[in-house]
Amino acid sequence: MSISIKSLNKIYAGGNHALRDVNMDIPAGMFGLLGPNGAGKSTLMRIMANLMEPSSGTISIFGYDTVRQRKEVRSLLGYLPQDFRFFARYKTHEFLDYAARLSGISGGKERKRRVDEMLETVGLFDARERYADKLSGGMKRRLGIAQALIHNPKVIIVDEPTTGLDPEERIRFRNLLSETSERNVAVILSTHIVGDISSTCRCMALMNRGEVSFFGSPEELLKQAEGKVWRLQVNDEELREIDSKYPVIVTVPSGDGWEIEVVSDEVLGYSAEHCQPNLEHAYVYHINAGLGLWG
Ligand code: ADP
Repeated sequence: MSISIKSLNKIYAGGNHALRDVNMDIPAGMFGLLGPNGAGKSTLMRIMANLMEPSSGTISIFGYDTVRQRKEVRSLLGYLPQDFRFFARYKTHEFLDYAARLSGISGGKERKRRVDEMLETVGLFDARERYADKLSGGMKRRLGIAQALIHNPKVIIVDEPTTGLDPEERIRFRNLLSETSERNVAVILSTHIVGDISSTCRCMALMNRGEVSFFGSPEELLKQAEGKVWRLQVNDEELREIDSKYPVIVTVPSGDGWEIEVVSDEVLGYSAEHCQPNLEHAYVYHINAGLGLWG
């Protein structure tokens, strides 16, 4: 196991219980942590990245404890936070050189070699003379990954990386993460966007209200929603009624009314046909079941 999390709790000053008895063994490869805003994902990422201590419990990374063996853990880890900022005065290659210095790569020649290699890896070599804070959103994230990888870590932690990216940049960024995981780097990705998970992660966890409510493969999560997705043809009034009782995922104008998809154990009083679940259906099923809305 690359990362082992045991009985982890975080209670912020003021009493907010952000993590509740989190236990997970995260395997190598690409791992997705999915959950709605406020679920506790960033809190968990920050504790993993050694930027905050838990209230109780432990995290070990390749056998090193994040609290007691900070130095060893830092050398194994790269981190890309949600709101990564660049200094205005640095060009792209200068910024990476700075990151390389910070990570302890001291020889100028070795640093240049490493900076050029990382610029190539993330597809920014041609942009190396541009000022980092003037790059597009997608390029900035890629530069963020380059700084996280500059010291050859074994694990990188990436918090909500595709928020605000356009679809093309999102796909490019996801591909970069999956290529990284193929080079023997464990990639821990946190997101509230289901599409970030489905195509790339072999293992995932779902978090809600500070707890891990699912751990396994995307296929296993999908299985839980089999037989729970319904397609119905409804009019305006019926749509309002159904929407107040069940999670409605898709609403498409059809004829005089709407064709809708509902995620629920059953849809009482309506004629509905089953349809094949996708990961978004499964996520909604799981989160709503957890909130005790129905079932
Ligand atoms: P997510 O990343 O899933 O959106 P967070 O880890 O940011 O979730 O937040 C989990 C909970 O902890 C939320 O209720 C949030 O308001 C709270 N929280 C986050 N940071 C702090 C903080 N510094 N002080 C107090 N409460 C916080």
